[in-house]
Amino acid sequence: MCVILNDIMNIQKSNYHHTIILYPGIEKYEILQEVMTPMINELNDLVINGLKDSTGKIWKIKPYFSSDWKFLSIILGFNASNANYFCLWCLCTKKDIGNKNKVYTIEKNMNQLDPAFFNHHSSEKPPPGHIKPPLLKIIPLDYYIADELHIMLRIWDQLWLLVLQELKMQNRFNDSIRAVIITEMRRISVTFQFWQDQET
Ligand SMILES: [Zn+2]
Repeated sequence: MCVILNDIMNIQKSNYHHTIILYPGIEKYEILQEVMTPMINELNDLVINGLKDSTGKIWKIKPYFSSDWKFLSIILGFNASNANYFCLWCLCTKKDIGNKNKVYTIEKNMNQLDPAFFNHHSSEKPPPGHIKPPLLKIIPLDYYIADELHIMLRIWDQLWLLVLQELKMQNRFNDSIRAVIITEMRRISVTFQFWQDQET
């Protein structure tokens, strides 16, 4: 799906969201590499040469890429989310998770990935975690954006866990609290149930 980000007025309207590729297959690097080749070539051409409209004016194109984490990582040739180096943008590792004192910035860029994967005379190694060539190397790494919905769902999951944890810590996780939660979930039309583990 493609949308013109400059067109702020219409950005949320589905009529302005354009399908550029319909792919019914599974999310697998090798297959995507195959089916995306024509699109990749066209995108390279658009970025390098711009788009000439009917009046002869040439428009400069700056592509951004956004999807959920899994698809982002496949497109970037990156390893799994549970690996030690799990971040698409910086060199943080698992042990940095939860470290709020560290300043995280975008440390990697396509210029590091390019010689490592595309120049066979180069001895340069890709940054850790990058196991395959990025499929859309024409898009700079800082133009890859994890999609808001998935980030929001993840944050909500974490916040919800914290709520339950806090109730348990204060010894308030009892039937009356559970009834309050269930009533509220019903009010916002969310199907929700508590399950009790049967002790064996
Ligand atoms: Zn990071």
